[in-house]
Amino acid sequence: NAPLMHMVSTQPGEANPADIQRAFDAQLPTALAWRASTAAERIARLKKLRDAMLARREAFYAAFEKDYHKPPSEVEATEFMPVLDEIRHAIGDLKKWMKPQRVWPTMTTGGTSAWIEAQPRGRCLIIAPWNFPLNLCFGPLVSALAAGNTAIVKPSEMTPHVSAVMVEILRELFPIDQVAIFEGSTPTSTALLALPFDHIFFTGSPAVGKIVMTAAAKHLTSVTLELGGKSPVIVDESADIKLAAETLLWGKLTNCGQICVAPDHVYVHEAVKDKFVAECRRVIAERYGDNAQAQKASPHFTRVINQRHTQRIAGLIDDARKRGARVLLGGEVDVASSFIAPTLLDNIPAEATIMSEEIFGPVLPVIGWRDIDQVIARINADPKPLALYIFARNDARTKRIIAHTSSGGVGINHCVLHYAHGNLPFGGVNNSGIGNAHGYFGFKAFSHERAVLKSGPIMVAKLFFPPYDGFKPKL
Ligand code: NAD
Repeated sequence: NAPLMHMVSTQPGEANPADIQRAFDAQLPTALAWRASTAAERIARLKKLRDAMLARREAFYAAFEKDYHKPPSEVEATEFMPVLDEIRHAIGDLKKWMKPQRVWPTMTTGGTSAWIEAQPRGRCLIIAPWNFPLNLCFGPLVSALAAGNTAIVKPSEMTPHVSAVMVEILRELFPIDQVAIFEGSTPTSTALLALPFDHIFFTGSPAVGKIVMTAAAKHLTSVTLELGGKSPVIVDESADIKLAAETLLWGKLTNCGQICVAPDHVYVHEAVKDKFVAECRRVIAERYGDNAQAQKASPHFTRVINQRHTQRIAGLIDDARKRGARVLLGGEVDVASSFIAPTLLDNIPAEATIMSEEIFGPVLPVIGWRDIDQVIARINADPKPLALYIFARNDARTKRIIAHTSSGGVGINHCVLHYAHGNLPFGGVNNSGIGNAHGYFGFKAFSHERAVLKSGPIMVAKLFFPPYDGFKPKL
């Protein structure tokens, strides 16, 4: 009967498996009790979380600066606002989400009444990546708490300063039988994944997503997998080219391209390609400076997360160059400061690694096209992406592209923004993910939809009781 307090790891950098086990065990009675929790109780937890976040705004700004030179306005737009919006949405709509949904009887169930109850799944595990370390830890946590669950959170090891603030908040607000947080890398994740959680919500790469799903399969634990991939953009000859360049580069260069739904590469109609490239040059010069030195000094340009990833992205540029790609703009790399200049590449052969690996950095391959069916065929030959973006004023063309491709979501004349829409499901398909997040869809991810049927005085189903003499059901 150890006291419910936070324990310190015995291994530097990794959580102690015994501490993990104790937190997991401690959460069982709470999870059982929270099955009957009310909207008011859950909302009180969300409000606590919101207030603690707001009280540490400055501490978060400083942490993001230390972790990867992320400007406060980007912290606001991509970390604070999405989580605060998620909390506001849940507080406003939770009663509605929790209300049992009555359903009409079908032919064989005439005479019964039935409804669906959203029941908390129980003890949930949330594993987060580094690219939006606050948003992707606390965002799912909001959905988990709104749905009445307990949670164990594992942030990424790559953003230790942001994690430190989150640890401070969660330890102050919640005893470990409600919400626990464990820092660490693969060994900590592995220890967590060995436990029979009721649900795992994982955000990260498809490669690790497979490891998570394999571990979950051992216990038949349900999973939500929010994964990544190569989100393509199509710029049609009918597009507003200025708007396309301005919007697309916002999505590509915010957070230094380290966004799961960042435009990865762009297929541009040959008739407008030169104009598009010229607009891209102008936009980059206006926003970050027209040379690498100015861009490096810019307070508006986030860095690559670390030197290893800088080398990885530099390797993608080199590989493409060696295979005949042309650098249209940028290409400068300074590994020591994790800097890569905003870069446009042209003339890239399909077999270049940059055309198969998720770029996750400020490099945009530009590929010309004349036949939309060939572009559609190329997209369909790749794993299904998390997002597909279309810039076009020709609605028939847009509809045709949507009808003949698959992706987690679609942006028309915009990019990334669908992520922020709390009434849209956010998730991938197959290689880019399984299940959805955000708003009601996040609540659903952390709820078991329980079917309840109540018998009435006159029941059609009585016809099915034996003896069966003379009864031959026919539909
Ligand atoms: P990652 O898969 O390397 O790591 C994610 C988490 O898994 C981290 O907490 C990490 O510690 C843990 N992990 C790493 N290796 C593990 C292993 N072998 N076993 C168990 N756990 C392990 O991803 P990342 O590099 O942190 O993030 C980038 C990836 O995440 C990109 O592919 C990106 O597209 C994707 N992503 C997706 C979304 C989304 O909402 N769909 C959002 C952000 C990022």
